[in-house]
Amino acid sequence: MGMLATRDWYDLARQTNWTPKYISTEQMFPPQFSDGYGIGMEFWEEFDEPYKVTYRDYVQTQREKEVGAYSVKSATSRSEFYRKAEPGWKSMLQFHFGSIPFVEYGSVSAFARMTRFGKAPGMRNMATFGSLDETRHSQIQMFFGYEFIGEHRAFDWAHKAPNTDNWVVISERHCFDDVEHTRDAVSSAIMTNFSFEQGFTNLQFIALSADAKKYGDYSFSAMLQTVQSDEARHSQIGEPLIEIMLKAGRKEEAQRLIDISFWRVWKQFSALSGVSIDYYTPLERREHSFKEFVENFVCTQFLRNLNALGLDKPWYWDDHFLPDINTYHHAQQIGIYLYRATQWWDAVAGVSPRERDWLEQKYPGWNDTFGQTWGVIIENVLSGRTDRTEPQFLPMFCNMTGLELTGIPGKNWKVKAEHLDLDGRRYHFGSPVDKWIFELEPERYKGHLSFIDRFVAGLMPAGPEGAFEYMNMPVGDRGVCGDNYAWANGYRNRAAAE
Ligand code: FE
Ligand code: FE
Repeated sequence: MGMLATRDWYDLARQTNWTPKYISTEQMFPPQFSDGYGIGMEFWEEFDEPYKVTYRDYVQTQREKEVGAYSVKSATSRSEFYRKAEPGWKSMLQFHFGSIPFVEYGSVSAFARMTRFGKAPGMRNMATFGSLDETRHSQIQMFFGYEFIGEHRAFDWAHKAPNTDNWVVISERHCFDDVEHTRDAVSSAIMTNFSFEQGFTNLQFIALSADAKKYGDYSFSAMLQTVQSDEARHSQIGEPLIEIMLKAGRKEEAQRLIDISFWRVWKQFSALSGVSIDYYTPLERREHSFKEFVENFVCTQFLRNLNALGLDKPWYWDDHFLPDINTYHHAQQIGIYLYRATQWWDAVAGVSPRERDWLEQKYPGWNDTFGQTWGVIIENVLSGRTDRTEPQFLPMFCNMTGLELTGIPGKNWKVKAEHLDLDGRRYHFGSPVDKWIFELEPERYKGHLSFIDRFVAGLMPAGPEGAFEYMNMPVGDRGVCGDNYAWANGYRNRAAAE
């Protein structure tokens, strides 16, 4: 039987829309799920996705990718690799596999909403593949993570994480619920596909994949690449949507969606990829600093795409985002190391004398700021008072990011918490941008309790173990220093020599 060539049927098939007879268009596409901007059908007819694919081609390509990644995995003895890996690489793997799979799994539903409620057939088509992609991303990352379950308890979190109220998980859920799951299909597609996927996934999936290759972790590298090649396709749903918004006179709204989601997702990736790339990746295997990757992927490529579409850089770009690239993940790393017991992975410090030299070279001024705080931690470790490197009290959390409130320590001391009083409650923010997002729509955010708010509200069992019980982290399931303080040995020798 002869088969039609793709070009003979594709355009016809992908433009199939129909006019409902028994219900109104409004009933078929309720604005709160579909298009909250009331953009007319004539605009939707023009949706033109840049990346066109048929189901037949899709399945074939995906199959080849899967076969590639799984054969690299079975060719390399992963347990052996893991046992020999440096502590920092182990921290990175543990952090990645606990943090990522459940966000991928959530994305399945975000795309499914676009599939059902997108008004443009091309958008629905692309989003259908997006759902299938994200299903695969959840499965492959859970499977690759689970391989190490016999090696370390942290890999259990590939599945366990979303079912806990661990503070890191609360922070992630708050961000991605906002960006992916609680808005109409148009808004969440712009926020997810454009800001999140085009803006930031490169940092974890391309930057880290380059480091992984350099480190000899071929199976992790191959897995990340199969994921990112899907992102490169389905993230393109965002651009034609923005074009339609602009044509329909909705530039201001499109810009706001970008400004909100860019900041929210930046904070997440700064803590995840920033710490993984600048502190966990073994020094000799670092391809670039996190800052260099951000400058390339975000400040150059993403900004160029944004400008090409006719949108502006977010209003806070120069005053808040650019300074953040040099500072935020350094501050978060201090908190992550100190509060290691509250996280599933064994965090390394990543600040041995040689690593500090690298940090100072990549981030001039690091020694006078973040290095000063580490100086105190080092003193405590050298004098055998490691207990003093684990605070007994909970830190303050930002009511937007769910991450620790931080600033710049040392000689450039700059710590300023923003707050807002509303309906008898005080909300704290890590930056004016976080506060700005909250104030745009207080009804959306005000009911949420941060980790510390839950403690204060008495939602956690009493006593010193209460917070751990609340997070489902019995003794034995808590992070410890990833290299058992070996990182401080260089200072010990230095102190002895002096
Ligand atoms: Fe994904
Ligand atoms: Fe994706």
